[in-house]
Amino acid sequence: MSKRVFNFCAGPAALPEAVLLRAQAELLDWQGKGLSVMEMSHRSDEFTGIAETAEHDLRDLLSIPDNYKVLFLQGGASQQFAQVPLNLLPEEGIADYLDTGIWSRKAIDEARRFGNVNVAASAKPYDYFAIPGQNEWQLSKNAAYVHYASNETIGGLEFGWIPEVGDVPLVADMSSDILSRPIDISKFGLIYAGAQKNIGPSGLVVTIVREDLLGRARSSCPTMLDYKVAADNGSMYNTPPTWSWYLAGLVFAWLKEQGGVEAIGRINQLKQRKLYDFIDASGLYSNPIAKNDRSWMNVPFRLADEKLDKPFLAGAEVRGLLNLKGHRSVGGMRASIYNAVGMDAVDALLGYMAEFEKEHG
Ligand code: PMP
Repeated sequence: MSKRVFNFCAGPAALPEAVLLRAQAELLDWQGKGLSVMEMSHRSDEFTGIAETAEHDLRDLLSIPDNYKVLFLQGGASQQFAQVPLNLLPEEGIADYLDTGIWSRKAIDEARRFGNVNVAASAKPYDYFAIPGQNEWQLSKNAAYVHYASNETIGGLEFGWIPEVGDVPLVADMSSDILSRPIDISKFGLIYAGAQKNIGPSGLVVTIVREDLLGRARSSCPTMLDYKVAADNGSMYNTPPTWSWYLAGLVFAWLKEQGGVEAIGRINQLKQRKLYDFIDASGLYSNPIAKNDRSWMNVPFRLADEKLDKPFLAGAEVRGLLNLKGHRSVGGMRASIYNAVGMDAVDALLGYMAEFEKEHG
């Protein structure tokens, strides 16, 4: 087998090697049944078992209360940008949104197609380098919900805390930080997360929704986008992405073997601290984000001279450190260090960064 690289991609991201090996072992013949999961009917006992185990393990990992439904959907997190207002925003209602970066702005733009949006707070005055404190927010009186992105994958800005919005349903795009550390699900009305970071392969989005928020979709909402239809049909109103669902289940089982989100959260905390400490102490690399708002999962950094970007990336590639180029909209570098990217990957990256700084700093 060829040597696997250290993959710092923001998504689709690295998957645990143990999960890939298990999928490989089961590819042609799943548990002696003589066929692949990809070839099974989604209504078969075998796939129903796979689906139920995945949901059970996710509920366990996040301690999801019984009054929440877990939905395995398609269309990615981007479709949720439309699905949330179609289900939760009455035509004459208003929804509050927080703007902390590119992904929350995409959610805002999409919601505006369906109704009134109040941008209750924006990180723009801080150049998107800090999250405005709650005392600066202008929440509406009768908002249908408050939406925010708990981690901005591109900017590297993460809420280390949960907004306090009283009885108004709190909706979070957790695409890039779900399962990275413990979180109190009961504080939320709805959470969604595209799978291709900490959950599994793309093609799947997981939505966790409080039951009292089901059945509110506007009459024009397409059947496929009505959360209640998905919930009533066990996320199988139509053919679900069975392979992604199965892989997600393997990732959940792997995460439980690692000790769950508490254990992985402790490792994630150490990983990000090591990386930021190194960047802060360096004369060559920098990260502009306010210390309390730095993402644990996506660490953007710049080199003092842009001309060094190319040689930095070329040297990284030679050493098997891949996908460190920052998002095209912001430039610079970005190291995404999701759950499947271990301390060995962070150490290898730091070793290379130190070596490069010695040569070029
Ligand atoms: N929200 C966030 C925070 C993301 O990081 C991404 C993808 N990188 C999206 C939404 C969009 O996800 P998808 O490509 O699954 O639509």
